[in-house]
Amino acid sequence: MTASFDSPQACVNLARVQSRIDLATAHAGRQRADVSLLAVSKLQSADKIEALYAAGQRAFGENYVQEGVDKIAEFAANPRYADIVWHLIGPLQSNKTRVVAESFHWVQSVDRLKIAQRLSAQRPAHLPPLNVCIQVNVSAEASKSGCPPDEALALMVAASALPQLSVRGLMGMPQPGIGEQATQQQFLMLTELYAAARSKITSVDTLSIGMSDDLEIAVACGSTMLRIGTALFGARPAA
Ligand SMILES: *Cc1c(COP(=O)(O)O)cnc(C)c1O
Repeated sequence: MTASFDSPQACVNLARVQSRIDLATAHAGRQRADVSLLAVSKLQSADKIEALYAAGQRAFGENYVQEGVDKIAEFAANPRYADIVWHLIGPLQSNKTRVVAESFHWVQSVDRLKIAQRLSAQRPAHLPPLNVCIQVNVSAEASKSGCPPDEALALMVAASALPQLSVRGLMGMPQPGIGEQATQQQFLMLTELYAAARSKITSVDTLSIGMSDDLEIAVACGSTMLRIGTALFGARPAA
């Protein structure tokens, strides 16, 4: 990947990822329309986001609260970008929930009830309910965030009773570098939880699994939302 990222490059990258999704859904016998694409723009410049927007992308995911809030404010200043949907996909501390509840459309990294309660209480009344996913720790790695799999359903049920939240589903990340089969096993744990959640909670429609390297496996496991960074933007600058 070269350092330059102009509109033609953004179009090429987006078309490549779209055709990977086309192939993966066809291969899995799934409807293409049932899988959406979230462009993970963490550490990427506003210029690059603009280029991908010009290529047709509308949903963007940020990992770091302050960086995300700053970008949202910058794009909100231009009415042209009013249809961008912003997702927080990185860890969220309870002392940062207010700015998140005020600016993002989705938070995919809710992993405990306290965070859900604060987001609901702090979501401004003039905005629609904040869309949330429960992040599940499927890899049992001590360092990874996410709620334990056996607590996810209860957390979803509790969060769905909160007035200013709409519980949309589950998000998870397999442990990196464990190979195709183990990745698939960790995804399938979420696929099962997702089916159970859908039968209990009517607002649930999102299984957020799959990144640049495991998009095809995730689609085969039932992903409805892929979170793709590197394959769209190229390598990230260091944090
Ligand atoms: C960085 C990140 C991604 C995107 O990863 P790529 O491998 O660059 O596609 C997806 N989800 C989360 C939670 C991330 O932090």
